[in-house]
Amino acid sequence: MSDLRESVMTRTLPLPLPSADNIEFYRATRRGELRFQRCSECGSWRHYPRPACGECHSLDFAWELSSGCGHIYTWTIVRGPTLPAFQDELPYNVIDVVMDEGVHFQSQLLDCPPEEIRAEQRVEAVFEPANEDITLVKFRRIQGVSTDGRARTGRESPHE
Ligand SMILES: [Zn+2]
Repeated sequence: MSDLRESVMTRTLPLPLPSADNIEFYRATRRGELRFQRCSECGSWRHYPRPACGECHSLDFAWELSSGCGHIYTWTIVRGPTLPAFQDELPYNVIDVVMDEGVHFQSQLLDCPPEEIRAEQRVEAVFEPANEDITLVKFRRIQGVSTDGRARTGRESPHE
């Protein structure tokens, strides 16, 4: 059993494989842009990338720019076992963010100890190049939110 495990174990960092559906998503993240598909017929946003709208089944869509902001819907803390590439990161979080556009996005919250993660926490996307082709999207907490609800950068917090 453990021989089989060793034979299929991924040792290097597993990265997304660009496909016909998601290549535009990763082209955008390389430019530091978070873009989601938006249906040209009914206006629904969607993520993960796919050919048809889940609401009206239209195949027409555009890659529209996201605000990059959202809030934590739920999360988990991974304490292991995990892949060798992630072993040194333990414990680490996996968060589910509801973007302001309404789509869910699974990622990781940076610079936040497990005990400080909260539901509804406002977060903003940050871009982490992994190699020439793939730039990953992760998140940071937004420390200050102005009265009009618009996010300011976390660096304005007096606690930092
Ligand atoms: Zn639609």
